[in-house]
Amino acid sequence: MEGHPGMMNSGSEPPVPSEFELIARLFAPLATSSDALGLRDDAALITPPDNSELVVTADALVEGVHFFRADPADRIAKKALRVNLSDLAGKGAIPHGYLLVLSIPQWVDFHWLTRFSEGLRVDQERFQLSLLGGDTTATPGPLTIAITAIGTVGRGRMVSRSGARPGDDVFVTGTIGDAGAGLACLQGLCGKLSRSERQMLIDRYQVPEPRTSLGKVLPGVVSAALDISDGLIADIGHLASASNVRVEVHASKVPISEPVGHLWQDRREAWFRALTAGDDYEIAFTAPRTNHNAVGKLAAELGVSVSRIGRVLSGEGVFLLDEMGIEIPVQQKGYVHF
Ligand code: ADP
Ligand code: MG
Repeated sequence: MEGHPGMMNSGSEPPVPSEFELIARLFAPLATSSDALGLRDDAALITPPDNSELVVTADALVEGVHFFRADPADRIAKKALRVNLSDLAGKGAIPHGYLLVLSIPQWVDFHWLTRFSEGLRVDQERFQLSLLGGDTTATPGPLTIAITAIGTVGRGRMVSRSGARPGDDVFVTGTIGDAGAGLACLQGLCGKLSRSERQMLIDRYQVPEPRTSLGKVLPGVVSAALDISDGLIADIGHLASASNVRVEVHASKVPISEPVGHLWQDRREAWFRALTAGDDYEIAFTAPRTNHNAVGKLAAELGVSVSRIGRVLSGEGVFLLDEMGIEIPVQQKGYVHF
């Protein structure tokens, strides 16, 4: 396919080169694995390690929905990759490679794409995976970045949403609600926070930290897990229904960062907003009592904070409880697109 004439740009910026040149100059250098065949064939060829299975997941970011046009291109690239790495982490998989489908509108120039590919390069190195292929098209619509990530896991060892059992406890990594507050900051609602607090929250929204190192060691230790992208309560609800159990979450045990505490000073509001906001990309998991020590040890070894926030019972649904054990009603449990 030829480059779209609409991708040419007559300003001082260098024009977007042809599709082939774009792939050769910006994307082929990211195809570091021999599986990618240098992006010179129609497809990649994956040779999984012996006794492993492939874990595959896709997530798309759309301009105006998941990021703003003015956001730095390298940050957009990192977020697009990291939201996928978070899914792999939640399944106990080790990142292997990814496919990148770009739908590029006219406003995107070569400078933007160069910065975008630089963001990918940095994160590929950090998380140890390779670009394996993709597709590039022009679009009259918003910029869309669709990534399919592929990870590996020992045969039969993928962590599912459905393994939680009554008697297990519920854990979560990191702090919850930072990204939701960061989005509020970008919308101008963080006036009372200091500059550094605002920046910390915006960073958490724009560049989430996938729990890749912890994810790899979840198989065999946890009974069920998932990454939190739509809001803690909503996602734990998905885990509860997949496992056919009831989950009780103690609001006061959910870890909330200091800036989020400052922003929403009313405690109930803080909990409520944090527990239903999206974009956390932390991992929620359940584990039987017998594995609590193992969980604590792994968290300490890896330097990841893990908090016990609730328990699994027989029944169904997810319930948020206050310090007295009384249910806090939650109407909208998380973000829904439609
Ligand atoms: P096709 O004509 O089948 O769509 P392309 O010319 O789009 O093939 O792709 C040629 C090669 O470049 C393939 O290996 C494909 O995987 C790779 N490729 C195309 N776009 C991208 C992209 N955005 N990121 C990574 N690889 C890409
Ligand atoms: Mg193509």
